[in-house]
Amino acid sequence: MMHFRITILAILLLTILCCCSPHESESSKWRQENGKIKVLTTIAMINDIVKQIGGEKVDSITLIRGELDPHSYELVKGDDEKFARADLVFYNGLGLEHGLSLRQNLENHSKAIAVAEPLLKENPELILTMDGTFDPHIWMDIALWVKTIDPIVSALSIQDPIHAAFYRENGDKLKSILQEADRSMYATLQAIDAKRRYLVTSHDAFHYFTRHYLAEPGEKEWALRCKAPEGLAPEAQMSVNDVIAIIDHIEAFHISVLFPESNVSKDSLRKIINACREKGCDIRLCQEELYADSMGKANSYLEMIAHNVKIIARELKNE
Ligand code: FE
Repeated sequence: MMHFRITILAILLLTILCCCSPHESESSKWRQENGKIKVLTTIAMINDIVKQIGGEKVDSITLIRGELDPHSYELVKGDDEKFARADLVFYNGLGLEHGLSLRQNLENHSKAIAVAEPLLKENPELILTMDGTFDPHIWMDIALWVKTIDPIVSALSIQDPIHAAFYRENGDKLKSILQEADRSMYATLQAIDAKRRYLVTSHDAFHYFTRHYLAEPGEKEWALRCKAPEGLAPEAQMSVNDVIAIIDHIEAFHISVLFPESNVSKDSLRKIINACREKGCDIRLCQEELYADSMGKANSYLEMIAHNVKIIARELKNE
């Protein structure tokens, strides 16, 4: 009888362990009351900023995890509960989170804050558009991402006014760290010959990056320095005309390296490389992936951008 009970117990334990992924256990731990503000963020880049500002007063998790595409993300089992539990929800806005079920939940949550919206209101000239659609990838320019700190400090302070000074102090500290990193990365990339500062990546996530770090100061035609086959959201299909346009661009600007992104298939870039080689171009695929819509293996937002800068600088210099 005893053996039978032990066997049943072991099976139960095994079932629990198998069913409970690290994500599920993190999420169920997050839902428990612990006196902290419960924050739900859509992408890891926002989550990192919230954690650094909120410190031990805030319990923050990311909805769109790992390499999932934030543009097309639709809610999965358990996500509704996260929205219901969250005291505050921070999302990017500018059309990034356009999956229907996610958009509806963001619109219906009484405390969902789009961190990019104040920037759009105060400095609309800084926001890029493509064919009438906002480019949501503002995190690719640290100087712009810094501007999401104030809305986050302000929302946390309204939620928890006793610790407003704490959030302000952490926010200001983070601003200084990011601004210093921004200056250093700008200097690294601007040191590369301007004729080589051209970027071809998987999808159109690097326009803000290009405008800020790769363009010549005041350059009007800076957008020519950045091209991608897959548009603003990587779920779009690449047409024959897209391929032809990219190949013409590669030839016109003597580009010899293409940059894959960690959460986008490399098929399009490989097709382009094959087509270019058939025309006799000397072109290669960078062996390391850039982080565009996810933080990849980086542990923080700053590490993510530093990773991109390191790879881009190395590859463009080596041409
Ligand atoms: Fe994207």
